[in-house]
Amino acid sequence: MRSRYCAFVMSNAEYIFLSHSPQTREQVSVAAINDWNNQCDWRGLQVITSKQDHKLNRVEFIAWYKQDGKLQYHHELSLFMQEPLDSGFSQLIQPPVEHVWYYHSASYPNRNITVPKRNDPCICHSGKKLKKCCG
Ligand SMILES: [Zn+2]
Repeated sequence: MRSRYCAFVMSNAEYIFLSHSPQTREQVSVAAINDWNNQCDWRGLQVITSKQDHKLNRVEFIAWYKQDGKLQYHHELSLFMQEPLDSGFSQLIQPPVEHVWYYHSASYPNRNITVPKRNDPCICHSGKKLKKCCG
């Protein structure tokens, strides 16, 4: 989860693509990931819940970003599955491992998100007020 967020921040579309489960990877492309990511200026990741059950892990998170100068958020419940490492992702994983957590799919929880106010601490954890930082 966090490695994928870092890959978004670092514009590493190949990592985002290859960390998709081989079962669902065909639903995305490096070009589509780049198209979306190029519009986003990532500002912070907030993990809300994480529940692991054997080879399934569900992570609800908010990823904050700026787009056209406005603070926005992406709220998602991601499903990760532990699967055997495939030949694609194995090019990016060191040291070699047998199984990895792949991003499988997403759903979008119906939950109200509290957007911080101007004088609240910034979502990027800079210690500054939102209005003096990412706001
Ligand atoms: Zn900030």
